[in-house]
Amino acid sequence: MSFLEIKDLHVNIDGKEILNGLSLSINKGEVHAIMGPNGSGKSTLANAILGHPKYSVESGDILVKGESILKLSTDMRARKGLFLAFQYPTEISGVGYSHFLRNAYNTLNKSLAEEQNREVFLTVREFHEYVKKNLDAVGLDQSFLSRYLNEGFSGGEKKRSEVMQMLVLKPNIAILDEPDSGLDIDAVKAVAEAINKLIATGAGVLVITHYARILRYLTKLDYVHVVAKGKVIKSGGKELSEELESKGYGWLGLEDK
Ligand code: ADP
Ligand code: MG
Repeated sequence: MSFLEIKDLHVNIDGKEILNGLSLSINKGEVHAIMGPNGSGKSTLANAILGHPKYSVESGDILVKGESILKLSTDMRARKGLFLAFQYPTEISGVGYSHFLRNAYNTLNKSLAEEQNREVFLTVREFHEYVKKNLDAVGLDQSFLSRYLNEGFSGGEKKRSEVMQMLVLKPNIAILDEPDSGLDIDAVKAVAEAINKLIATGAGVLVITHYARILRYLTKLDYVHVVAKGKVIKSGGKELSEELESKGYGWLGLEDK
């Protein structure tokens, strides 16, 4: 049994079927990539796993350690150690970055204490030192700690910030929705190195991307899946991502929208 199992998932948005029978299992310690044309349902899958209310699961199931999470709210899913780095992070004015991270971290410590060896930070200062190390790791300045969540962050800073949150929170399974989109080469490398740090903790990782480049930097890549028209149409190893990059989606008879 894998830590996260997605079984024959059917998901609608506003009454329109977007996922139609998608199955995928991700275990801790495994690194998966999903590639696929625009509009094929990749972000829909990521959002459905975390329980975004706009995405309605019509049938199928999502299981964590063998138990369905479909009835759980997003924060309860996060407490099981699921994490989503957004394709388009939202700016939330008034929510302090450092305050947000510390609350999230402490909440997760309560629910994940037994299955993970998590550090307990007794003072705000200790926690800040821990976050600062992770800010350094992704090339963000320490002044971010005193800003509001994503407010005024550039596109690249938002992407770095998403993986920074992942490093701080230490999920069991991290889903990263196009963490490399719109980034320059150095930033892609920094984001990949952050993902490598998480891989080293033994977490499971799912990277949604269009490009083999970020995948080449990863220390480990076990499976590559192609999602088209709402389901997985092909799975393989690292070589599949290289083949897609060189031949394009047309090679599989798919068009990009
Ligand atoms: P991908 O991430 O693979 O590019 P998405 O999962 O974002 O694809 O989108 C799949 C399909 O669902 C697209 O046709 C898109 O227009 C539609 N869709 C996604 N989000 C919404 C939404 N909030 N409302 C209506 N349609 C949506
Ligand atoms: Mg998407």
